[in-house]
Parts: sequence; structure tokens; C-alpha cells
Amino acid sequence: MSDLLREQLIATALEMNSSGINQGTSGNLSVRHDGGMLITPSGVPYEHLDSGDIVWVNCSDGSWKNKRKPSSEWRIHRDVHLAREDARAILHAHPVHATALACLQREIPAFHYMVAVAGGRNIRCAPYATFGSQALSDNALAALDGRTACLMANHGLLCLAKDLSAALALAVEVETLAQTYLQCLSAGEPVILDDEEMDRVLEKFKTYGQ
Ligand SMILES: [Zn+2]
Repeated sequence: MSDLLREQLIATALEMNSSGINQGTSGNLSVRHDGGMLITPSGVPYEHLDSGDIVWVNCSDGSWKNKRKPSSEWRIHRDVHLAREDARAILHAHPVHATALACLQREIPAFHYMVAVAGGRNIRCAPYATFGSQALSDNALAALDGRTACLMANHGLLCLAKDLSAALALAVEVETLAQTYLQCLSAGEPVILDDEEMDRVLEKFKTYGQ
């Protein structure tokens, strides 16, 4: 099971590159496993990963045993895995459009009904804190309240989902929304759907595609 999960983790990490969600070694990806999580290592390009490079981190005390160090953002992954039962897989990356909005410290409002894909009426932008810090993890966790995705100010994107492929699909969706929103902002101010309509969409999403 562990080996299969490690292979799935690497396959999904490679898809982060091919789908344009990740560049270089800035992204990271984890999946819940055996009282802890399997996470991509710090600073190893995904095309060079093999299953021995994937680090198992004990979520209770943050310890690990591996020749590699876990991603520098392991705290966010650990804290979200601990706080959110619905987080089986967590993806973080710096995709260009989501990150551009994050650098403007702007949330993604209900300019398009698909914003509901992240579970709420908007996709928040967590306040800035230094990468790898506990403060960043705390800010991200708060911005994820009632949501499965958030932006992180002057940094990037964070998504959680029931499995690795769903986390990647969500990241692609949010990045597309960010791109479309930026396109709107370059031409004017998009019309924002009201709360009543977004609540209707959120209700429909509960049964959509199942
Ligand atoms: Zn990052």
C-alpha cells in the first residue's frame, strides 16, 4: 500500500508539471498514510524522484526518517491533515495566475459560479507570512475554513481533496478561475454573483457529478 501510494504521489507530482501547475521545485504534495503523511522531499525536481525519496512524516510530532528532508512547507501539510478530516491529499504550488492574484492580496470572489468548486462563496487569500513558518500554516488553515482551496498572499495556492487526483483537478480548476478573473480585471470589473445565487450553486454542487 505504501509503495503504491508513493508511486501515485510521484505520478501526480509529474502531472503537476505537465498541467502547468508547478514549475521547478516550488510545489509540494502529500497524502495521508499510516498515522502520518507521505510528502515530496525538499528541493528534488519531480522528474528525479523515486519512491525512496518520498518522506513519511509523523503527524503527531513532526518527526521523519529519510535520507531526504520533507518539503519546507511540511508544517502546512501536517496541520491541515490534523485539522481537516476531509483532507486526504494536499497540494501546494505557485501556478502563475493564482500566484499573481495572491501577490495582489486579492481573494477570488464569486465572479463565476465555478468558484463554488472550493466549497464556498469565494476563495480566500491568506495573509502573508514567511515560507515554511508556523504563522503561514496558521494563516492558511484559517483561510481554508469551510473551503478546500485558498490563495496564500505573495506566495501561491493551496488545495486539499479526498485523493491525489482530486487535489490536482481542484488546483487546475482554481488556476483556471484565477486566469479568467485576471482577464476580467484587465478589461474592467466583473459582475459578482450574489450570495443567494452562490448558495444555490453550492447546494447543486453537493450532488453534481455523483
Ligand atoms: Zn510555496
